Amino acid sequence: MKPTFSIVAPIFNESGNISELYRRVKDVMDTTGEPWELVLVDDGSTDGSTEMMRDLAKQDERVRPVIFARNFGHQIAVTAGLDYTRGDAIIIIDADLQDPPEVMLDLIKKWREGYEVAYAVRAEREGESWFKLVTASLFYRLIYRITDVKIPLDTGDFRLLDRKIVNVMNQMRERHRFLRGMAAWVGFRQIGVPYKRAARFSGETKYPLKKMIKFASDAITGFSYFPLQLATYVGFVAAGIAIVAIPVVAVMRIAGNSAFFGQASTLIAVLFLGGVQLISTGILGEYLGRMYDQLKGRPLYIVREEPEEEGISKQVNR
Ligand code: UDP
Ligand code: MG
Repeated sequence: MKPTFSIVAPIFNESGNISELYRRVKDVMDTTGEPWELVLVDDGSTDGSTEMMRDLAKQDERVRPVIFARNFGHQIAVTAGLDYTRGDAIIIIDADLQDPPEVMLDLIKKWREGYEVAYAVRAEREGESWFKLVTASLFYRLIYRITDVKIPLDTGDFRLLDRKIVNVMNQMRERHRFLRGMAAWVGFRQIGVPYKRAARFSGETKYPLKKMIKFASDAITGFSYFPLQLATYVGFVAAGIAIVAIPVVAVMRIAGNSAFFGQASTLIAVLFLGGVQLISTGILGEYLGRMYDQLKGRPLYIVREEPEEEGISKQVNR
């Protein structure tokens, strides 16, 4: 039977969370009285999560595992999940139960009221380090300021998307993905639902600083030209200073003032501009590398094991 609701959860070494996730999702979704499916995407787990997913699928055919050939990253895992869904409304949820499954009912309520996207807004967060809280808060605010699409503040991937939105997102085969930005870009009627983000049920975060930085730079380069324009701004400021400073220093020297005599000032100017130029080249490299990845046109992910029935978007995209 075609499900009304599809729940997508990416899984990277979450063996301590899978059974509890299934239990809570099942309890909540059964109250809706509609058919549902749970698409679990195994993003190269090595801790036995894969076997647990297979066992669940044997017990309950509503559980549909998609097993990757290796770790492709969180955003790609969710993308694959979206590809395999069949429902009219799709809910993305983290597997670590930081997003309480009970909140899905609030999201579904908004969908029934006619909204195409209902995103869960983190009104409170429990059990996270101050470092994560500060960096996350800065990240959301920076993204909001420098991008053209208005990506809602303090909002993660925990959200409900109507089939219409998912169909559009599935056609956006960009390699470096920032799904919440892509969903905002699509448009339609979108609404926030506040919730309290819980602490992880079991295990540790799978987002070390390195992955966080990559995620942030994918988001920024994917949705803004601001870093590229930065070089232009600094260039204008430096040129402006030079135009004013050169005649001033020349007149001072002619008048016998030796304040700008010697190597130190030359060295400072050269090092400053050298630094700015190298950073600008690096920023160009960030965009260029992403363009090169896109140009190669490799598949976004490789699947080792597929669920028995294909998803709607998989059929469309082929
Ligand atoms: N995840 C994934 N692949 C990765 C890293 C994370 O599929 O390479 C999954 C992870 O299993 C979890 C979700 O993405 O279901 C969010 O990750 P995590 O909870 O570690 O991030 P945090 O909540 O700490 O930002
Ligand atoms: Mg988490």
